[in-house]
Amino acid sequence: MNPQKRINIRSTAGASNIYKDVTPLSFQDEEIRMLHLECGSGSSLLQCTLHRVSLQSVPTPSYEALSYTWGDENNRREIVVNGYIVDVTFNLYSALCRLRLEDEARVLWIDALCINQTDLDERSQQVQLMRNIYTTCDQTVIWIGEPPEDMLPTWEMHWTGDERDDESIDWFWKEFYSDSDRSNMDENDSTSIDQIFHAFANLRLLSSGHLSDQPLFIDMTGEEFSYYTTYSDYCRLVTDALAPFYDSPWWTRIWTVQEIILPPKAKFVFGPISVDMSCLLEAFAALACHMFEPCCSELFSRCNVRVRKCFRQLGSVLTNIKNMRASHGDGTNVELWETLTTFRARHATDNRDKVHGVLGLVNTWSGQPIVPNYRAATETIYCQAAISTAIGTQSLFPLHFPLQKHACPNLPSWCVDWTAASALADQLNVYQWSQQPFKVFPTHGSDHFQIVPRLDNRILEVCGRRGDRVASVGKICQGNEPNEKRKAYCDWFLLTGLHRDPSRMYRSGCSYFEAFWKCLCWDMTLHMSETAGIAISARSKGAESYEAFVGYCHSSLKSIFHPEGLSQADREAVLQLDKRFQTTADTKWGQYSQSDYLVEQWINGLTLNTTFFVTDSGYLGLGPPETQIGDEVWCLFGGQMPFILRPVATTQEVILGQGKKQLHQVFGTCYVHGIMDGEIANDDSIPAEILYLA
Ligand SMILES: [Zn+2]
Repeated sequence: MNPQKRINIRSTAGASNIYKDVTPLSFQDEEIRMLHLECGSGSSLLQCTLHRVSLQSVPTPSYEALSYTWGDENNRREIVVNGYIVDVTFNLYSALCRLRLEDEARVLWIDALCINQTDLDERSQQVQLMRNIYTTCDQTVIWIGEPPEDMLPTWEMHWTGDERDDESIDWFWKEFYSDSDRSNMDENDSTSIDQIFHAFANLRLLSSGHLSDQPLFIDMTGEEFSYYTTYSDYCRLVTDALAPFYDSPWWTRIWTVQEIILPPKAKFVFGPISVDMSCLLEAFAALACHMFEPCCSELFSRCNVRVRKCFRQLGSVLTNIKNMRASHGDGTNVELWETLTTFRARHATDNRDKVHGVLGLVNTWSGQPIVPNYRAATETIYCQAAISTAIGTQSLFPLHFPLQKHACPNLPSWCVDWTAASALADQLNVYQWSQQPFKVFPTHGSDHFQIVPRLDNRILEVCGRRGDRVASVGKICQGNEPNEKRKAYCDWFLLTGLHRDPSRMYRSGCSYFEAFWKCLCWDMTLHMSETAGIAISARSKGAESYEAFVGYCHSSLKSIFHPEGLSQADREAVLQLDKRFQTTADTKWGQYSQSDYLVEQWINGLTLNTTFFVTDSGYLGLGPPETQIGDEVWCLFGGQMPFILRPVATTQEVILGQGKKQLHQVFGTCYVHGIMDGEIANDDSIPAEILYLA
């Protein structure tokens, strides 16, 4: 072994030097490699050795798992592994520098070094063990990165969230009551305050109770209490110090999710500062409590804007983590689709990892479990995820999510493209939340229900009843900007011909005008739950949803009755029909009652990225943005909503020996007023047809 030999760990030849195990790691014995980070100090070279262990050995091996992000590929530093000099990213290097102990070796599991990344089979198998690796470790060490140099505190500090922090907290308070004369301090001299110490002390204080007792939420300047500078400067210093912490890419990567959810304990390391995960989770749970309760909600809504932004951002990501940890802790079922949707916005370098990265969190498979496979294409894995979920839930559930394509344009139309995270993020919550009340097909167990994957999972064979054909389509409603929304709604109003005869009867027995409104809100209402403090949606009873519009139409800037909406001539016919929509010069646009506000929020969500259409026989509907004239409305067995399908020109033999079949593309679900209660789905006079979704 030549200690000076430099090798490239990312080349097959280089890797074979480092990972020269005589036999491959045994998957059955759950063998992994541990990295021993040898003791040392200062700027001496980092020395590591790899050791093979079995997770099943008794006693269980003791190690810490490192959670970090790879960082800039081009910024590299050298370390020694098994006697060879290899280079790793600066981010990993700086983590190892901080973690190295002076007097003993530290046993770590680090994916980039413990797995031979050039061996695709080893990589696939080790990814399957990841769940065990992170569950079995003593704790996860989360490397957030180094704070900027000008903020570095001069000493190391560890926050535990319990009485061990008392001394630091006492010291923190004393700083505000310091006798030293601050009047001759330079106001712009931020080095006079240890920003990072104050930042984390303030985080720690969150768990102590009311926000009014905390110097970050209210200006506490008084006879005895004084800030270093002013209250707002203090807020700026503290939030500036937290920014590199919560802006770290660690929070946005897919792999880091299971690394914090699975282990018994975790510790964040941010340069010389470390914080136990439990300390942070408790702090933000307490904040979430107070910020929505009468005791502190007003204070929070009026406190320093930087403080609010910073705590909201950190709070929302920690809440997802806390909830998922709770599910794992109490044995609640966590299925694949829940993990995919919860963490859909997280990034992965390898698109396959949008799925692979959450597999470790799945504790219940009702369908076929997915096994990590780095030899399979991204498309194959996404199709597997959809089919496993469809067959597991015995429904077309995965087809109810936005189906737009992003980095995988060749995916079958029925498969969610998990790389399209940004579009998904906007729409997904609305989809998940609002489709629940619809069960147009109480027929998941019906004779007609079927889902059969064909042609290596490229084609989905399903059964359904044809509703109607799309005859005309309106503008796409994009974004939430009032002008844009209003223009789209006005366009739809004219498309439907409501400016001519709004009172003509709709097929389901109300006026066309009423059917129009009911489409926009899916004939549902939203109200605040008295007890839970959250908005709850429900199917409308009778004219309930229509009535809710009257108020909305007098307040929302997005209302078609706004002065910049419909022309006076176009609104005349409606006003003949219902005088309550009359607005005057005194109408207070933009001033909402709670109910008006909820209606607006509800319609905003449902119409986002959709278009309006009218069918051949006069049904009105709201559907996906791709909807075109000639598309068809289908009720597919196993779906909760009707779907927009398009017959495609190509035909294909999908079952051996049965000849070519007509294929259909699916663009997503739609709301069609008048068929949402099974009027078509359950009409036996309409033939149930087999369809092949491509
Ligand atoms: Zn409070």
